[in-house]
Amino acid sequence: MDHLSAPQATSPCGTRLTTGPFDLGEAILLVDEQLVPKGWQPKYLPLTPVPDAMRVFAVGRRMSAAGYGQDLFVALRRAIITDQENDGADCPRAGAVIAHVEQHRPIIMYFGDEECMLAECDHPHTDGICTGMTPGPAVCVSCSAYYDSGSEWGPEWIDAFRVEWPCAPVRAVADHYEIPLPEREVPARG
Ligand SMILES: [Zn+2]
Ligand SMILES: [Zn+2]
Repeated sequence: MDHLSAPQATSPCGTRLTTGPFDLGEAILLVDEQLVPKGWQPKYLPLTPVPDAMRVFAVGRRMSAAGYGQDLFVALRRAIITDQENDGADCPRAGAVIAHVEQHRPIIMYFGDEECMLAECDHPHTDGICTGMTPGPAVCVSCSAYYDSGSEWGPEWIDAFRVEWPCAPVRAVADHYEIPLPEREVPARG
């Protein structure tokens, strides 16, 4: 199977455009003939074919409260699409607002022992989550800073720059459309 990629081009003034998918030959042609001569900086973003991605999504389920905040995102999308200022779902203005808000989805942090974190404990699981762990705050992935520590724990959050969800961009859109934000009780850490 061809390896597909989505070439991403950045101009000297910072305009960034991602297009494709292309196979490697097409991507190289685009870079050599269109981007480089016109001063754009290319980058290849690898694309995973949809069936492969579906398989990874299904088996690669991470320990998280899947779908938390989903109701709010459905309500936001509906409000954006039916906004009188937008011309339905396909207009650029609606697409821009949906793309803007979509990246601010939450994940829920958990506190627990090492065995629980690595799913090596004997506790019962509810919805794939060990009941021996304590749920912590919901965090916005886009607004928070983290780095790949290379450990089995996954990304390392930088506490000083961790932003709880719903974050300001989500609040701004929800407030504009007068959509109530979800309430969530976070048990005290203990
Ligand atoms: Zn955010
Ligand atoms: Zn456990």
